[in-house]
Amino acid sequence: MKFNTKVIHSNLKDLDPAFDSVNPPIYQTTTFKQDSLKGHKGFEYSRTANPTRSALEESIATLENGNYGIVFSSGIAAVDAVLKLLKSGDEVITTTNVYGGTYRIFNQVYKHFGIKFHFINPNTDTFENYITPKTKLIWVETPTNPILSIADIKALSHISKANNLRLVVDNTFASPYLQQPLELGADIVMHSASKYLSGHSDVILGALVVNDKALADELHFIQKATGAIAGPMDCYLVFRGIKTLHVRMQRHCENAKAIAEFLYNHSKVKQVFWPGLPSHANHHIAKLQLKDFGGVVSFSLKEDSQDAAFQVLKKLNIITYAESLGGVESLIGHSASMSHASVPREERLLMGISDSLLRLSVGIEDSEDLISDLQQALI
Ligand SMILES: *Cc1c(COP(=O)(O)O)cnc(C)c1O
Repeated sequence: MKFNTKVIHSNLKDLDPAFDSVNPPIYQTTTFKQDSLKGHKGFEYSRTANPTRSALEESIATLENGNYGIVFSSGIAAVDAVLKLLKSGDEVITTTNVYGGTYRIFNQVYKHFGIKFHFINPNTDTFENYITPKTKLIWVETPTNPILSIADIKALSHISKANNLRLVVDNTFASPYLQQPLELGADIVMHSASKYLSGHSDVILGALVVNDKALADELHFIQKATGAIAGPMDCYLVFRGIKTLHVRMQRHCENAKAIAEFLYNHSKVKQVFWPGLPSHANHHIAKLQLKDFGGVVSFSLKEDSQDAAFQVLKKLNIITYAESLGGVESLIGHSASMSHASVPREERLLMGISDSLLRLSVGIEDSEDLISDLQQALI
């Protein structure tokens, strides 16, 4: 099956043995009756496994062309589960440009458990420089938040395999519609399904997808043993959202292109970050690796101050000032005071996040209306 068909049909077998419903039932139950002689029918207690969760795990695995999906109560809980594969003394190499919450769990939680994190700038440094016998993981996000840097997954997988490491790719910004990291050699794909996979800004959920059976068993064990499971209702919401992933992503990308070009030519705008623009630092690799260039566009203003950014935010009518991304509605955020508020200004500027930088998650409205909204706000 090709991707769009898989999105709809990957998962229709035996979803509902009782009545053959087209959608998976929401098994809102803690436990399952057991037969003292015959045992149980595959499920015993919902922390261990739940049929609605299993349906979603299979669906996400299929979209990523992977063998096993494991879902969690949030994207960060999925990050947490990967880190629990490590032990004190192990080292991780990652980039300075990771999602704020990922940076926080690395640097303010797991660092205290004796895990060492190297944060590197891949534009000026290489991962190989930090590999020691203690290195266990390379962790990248691509595209990154908010300046949409692109990592070359295939090249990283060669480094990672040559050194017996695991490569983890946070695929939240691309979604499996645009890129499938396991196909490019990653060992673990991570998602905040709260974003494009669910697509409607109505749920928090996280996922991991892997090919290796032993690794999947280990992650399922962590899911059960440490308990950050997603509830059946939330799993259903993501399952439902996924069915329109391909049409939403297509429109997100079309609208983002129109908006990136509009902003690029606007006299008040200093810089536009969108991997589809030839001016983007990683445009070349983006073209090779991604099916299209994604729905997030970031931009800075010529008057590069927080104040100027807030003036724009205040005037917007359709585009909503809020955290998060990947929903059908356009959302905009001010990176310096929201996602990267905890990063010191000097460090933030080095990451390319200037005082006026705004991150726009382009929704699936009419692009003309979104452009008019930006036009009147930029005056
Ligand atoms: C939102 C996000 C996360 C965290 O996911 P939650 O579902 O909010 O816990 C991780 N990585 C990226 C890239 C994100 O955008």
